[in-house]
Amino acid sequence: MRPFDYVRAPDVATALEAVATRPGAKFLGGGTNLVDLIRENVERPGTLVDISRLPLTEVEELPGGGLRVGALTRNSHLAAHPLVRQRYPMLTHALLSGASGQLRNMATVGGNLLQRTRCPYFYDTEARCNKREPGSGCDAREGFHRSAAVLGTSPSCIAAHPSDMCVALAALDAEIEAVSSRGTRRIPITDFHRLPGDTPHVETELAPDELITAVEIPRLPMAARSRYRKVRDRASYAFALVSVAAALEVTDGVVSGVRLALGGVGTKPWRATTAERLLYGEAATPESFALAVQEELAPAEGGDENAFKIELARRTAVATLRSLT
Ligand code: SF4
Repeated sequence: MRPFDYVRAPDVATALEAVATRPGAKFLGGGTNLVDLIRENVERPGTLVDISRLPLTEVEELPGGGLRVGALTRNSHLAAHPLVRQRYPMLTHALLSGASGQLRNMATVGGNLLQRTRCPYFYDTEARCNKREPGSGCDAREGFHRSAAVLGTSPSCIAAHPSDMCVALAALDAEIEAVSSRGTRRIPITDFHRLPGDTPHVETELAPDELITAVEIPRLPMAARSRYRKVRDRASYAFALVSVAAALEVTDGVVSGVRLALGGVGTKPWRATTAERLLYGEAATPESFALAVQEELAPAEGGDENAFKIELARRTAVATLRSLT
C-alpha cells in the first residue's frame, strides 16, 4: 500500500477545504470499497479525508411525506428504519440483499452510491482496463465477462454497476444532495451515474471536490407495496446477475402506476422507462408485463458468457410485477 496523508474532518467545511486544496485527495466514509482498492493499488489517493465523524447520519421525515437520508447513514440502519420498511420496502429488500451483515454495518449510503465495479480486470493491475487506465483497452470483452452488463455498454467498457441500493433508489426517483465551495446542488439519481461511452473512468456527475451530504426519497404511496428481487449465484454475499426493483398500482385491472428498475444488467442502475411508459393504462396481466419488459430489453447485447442475462432479466421482471398484482 502506498503512503498517503490523513486528515480527520470535524465538519463539512474542513472536509471540503481539505479535498479542494490537496491534489488527489479522497473522502473516506465507511471505506468498504475504497480501502480494498487502495490495498490492491487501484486507487492511489494523495490524501484520505476522513469524513466518518460528520453529522450526516440522520434519517428524517420530509414535510411532504418523503425521507431525507444522511449520506453517512449505515446501510444496515437504513434497511431497518421503520419508515423505510413501511413506505419503501423495495429499498429495505435491496439493502439487505447486498454484501454481508458486517459490511452493511460499515457501508454508508454515500459510499454505496459511489462504489466501483466488480469487474475482475479492474482490480487486476496487470490487465488492460479502460476504467482503471484510460485508453489501455478492455480485457473483459474477450475474457471473463459472465457478470458484465448487457445494457448501456460501449466499446470501451461493459462492466455492470454493482449496487443493489441504487437500483431501488432509481425506481424511487431519489435525489442526491452534493455540496462544494460553489454551493449545494441536487442531482436526480437517474442522472447521477454515467454511461461509460468513451470515458468509463468518469462514473458519476459528482465533481472531485463535491461531497454527498444526503439522499432524498420523495413520497410515493404505491411504493408501500413494492419489492426488490435479486438473482445471484448463491444466496448471500454475491452480486446480482439480475435484479429488479418494482412498485405497481393497479386500478380496475389496469396499470395506473408503475416503477421499474433493473440491476446487474446495466452499466448504471437501469430505470426501465420504456417498460413503464408501455405499461401505463394497460391491463395488469403477465402478457402486458412481458411485452413491456421485452421492449425495454430490445437494445440489450450480450456476449458468449452473459447473454443469458437478457432472458433472465425478462423473466425476473415479469415475475416481480406479477407478484405485486
Ligand atoms: Fe475495465 Fe470496464 Fe473492461 Fe472491465 S469491462 S476490463 S472495468 S474497461
